[in-house]
Amino acid sequence: MKIESRIVRKIEGVESITVKSVLNPTKGFISSFDYSINPYIGCLFNCSYCYVPYGFEQSYGTWGRDYWGRWLKVKTNAPQLLERELRKLYVKGKLADTFIYFGSVTDPYVLPVERRIQLTRKLLKIFLKYPVGFINIQTRSPLVVRDLDILKELNNRIHHGIAVCITIPTNRPDIKKIFERRSPGLVHRLKALEKVYKSGIETQASVAPLLPCEPSTFAQSLDKVCSRAVLDPLIEIEKKRRNIGVFEFKKPTVAARTRQSIYSIIHRHNLGEFFTEKYFESVKKIFIDVLGEDRVLEGKFGYNFASLTRKKTTQQNTIKNSVINEKKTKNRQLKDFF
Ligand code: SF4
Repeated sequence: MKIESRIVRKIEGVESITVKSVLNPTKGFISSFDYSINPYIGCLFNCSYCYVPYGFEQSYGTWGRDYWGRWLKVKTNAPQLLERELRKLYVKGKLADTFIYFGSVTDPYVLPVERRIQLTRKLLKIFLKYPVGFINIQTRSPLVVRDLDILKELNNRIHHGIAVCITIPTNRPDIKKIFERRSPGLVHRLKALEKVYKSGIETQASVAPLLPCEPSTFAQSLDKVCSRAVLDPLIEIEKKRRNIGVFEFKKPTVAARTRQSIYSIIHRHNLGEFFTEKYFESVKKIFIDVLGEDRVLEGKFGYNFASLTRKKTTQQNTIKNSVINEKKTKNRQLKDFF
């Protein structure tokens, strides 16, 4: 921990902290999972539409939001805590039914910190000792391929395997530059997705939020490198499903509450037409044409898809096992009777 703290101190805006727990019960958008794990608090990628800073208002006031993208806290005691918390689940017999979401409010492969201190890697290794039901890893960073050795092992050892979701909201580098100036390059993310997919691990391309793109080439580039794509609009599609633009909303509602600066960015670059239901639906249609209906999911359902299908299997297995047990007991009783 001492070496980590020394490395951390050298990176501007980054500090090490200790926390009281590392497995946090989920709610809202990813509620089909049991716990989320965030090795860091804060993020250095600074995506302009990020909804996370609002969550820090209570703990850090407006500071956390205003300086978002320029601070990161490293949970240096996370590995010890995780081991302790997983052991407790193991003792209670709950390990195999536990579904974990890695990176709900930070990027677990945030650069350059994760490359240097390997905190996420250390946490993943602990799951080899305590295999849970399912793990989903959400990232924008190609650094995830560094851990392919552990990920492959986890995929074999964990009850329902793992899934790696890489966020790629557009295939246009000029658009990426406008909205995500400091995040890893799009080509690197695609290559990472491909490597993970080819290693036999389930992958998801999170086109979230959907930004202006070249839909056909985008969908074609994803076709061979992911199990499915999840599309999520930046602006919540109005229930009445009218074809109206973002600036026509009296009170704009966003799919995930995001920083207000996103509106001025959209205005400044004259991109309003790309944040409409009409555009979203047209991109979705092209994605379905290329990837097939089964591989294109939308919004919250998309994020929860893997865990929902696995939970269903777990429940079915539980029902199946109880039916088998019931039958066995009846047969035993019949035998005893005769
Ligand atoms: S990578 Fe995720 S957490 Fe980090 S700024 Fe971007 S959207 Fe927010």
